[in-house]
Amino acid sequence: MLARVRSGLLGGTFDPPHIAHLLAGEVAYRQLGLDRVVFIPAGSPWQKAGRKVSSAHHRWVMSHLAVDGVDYFEADEREVHRDGWTYTADTLDSFDPAEELVLILGADAARGLPTWDRSADVLARAQVAVVPRPGVDRSEVDSLVKVERWLDMPALPLSGTLIRQRAAAGLGIRFLVTEQVYQYLDEQKLYRS
Ligand code: ATP
Ligand code: MG
Repeated sequence: MLARVRSGLLGGTFDPPHIAHLLAGEVAYRQLGLDRVVFIPAGSPWQKAGRKVSSAHHRWVMSHLAVDGVDYFEADEREVHRDGWTYTADTLDSFDPAEELVLILGADAARGLPTWDRSADVLARAQVAVVPRPGVDRSEVDSLVKVERWLDMPALPLSGTLIRQRAAAGLGIRFLVTEQVYQYLDEQKLYRS
């Protein structure tokens, strides 16, 4: 019998995808013995209603560029083309039932999981692996969510928000994203104020 494919899913707005996302994927791949890590940019992230998010097209292109060159990373466009808000429960349903799925979440995202649409279905379909995030208390997450595994990752006080702000202020963001993502941001003049 063939072993089941074990995939880690790392979803996000990816506005832009940055090195903490890639490192989270890397430590999950190593520490969980995954076959692949799938980066899934959200179409219309319902939790970001109210703030201006770069177009799905830009975020998809950047996600694609960010994983380039790593053969066990891929970018997946299934959410980008979905109409309406994006729900993780629907995304998990769209994977082959024979595949084993692990959701890779930063601690802030994990903390919010109980409020997600159909969160019980999400937890029934996927295991949850969490990477620490500066400012989020681990015991708080554990009290709210059944975490299968805490991954070992050095804390990186980095976020898309910080990168957008730094870019707008001209403070320098090179090396906080991959070189290809940096070149794309530069060419497209994203986040310039
Ligand atoms: P924004 O500031 O726009 O929310 P972000 O950096 O939080 O950007 P998201 O696309 O919202 O990025 O997050 C995608 C996933 O990556 C989430 O699970 C989030 O918790 C995780 N993540 C993002 N940055 C970090 C980080 N520095 N350390 C650990 N996890 C992170
Ligand atoms: Mg975020």
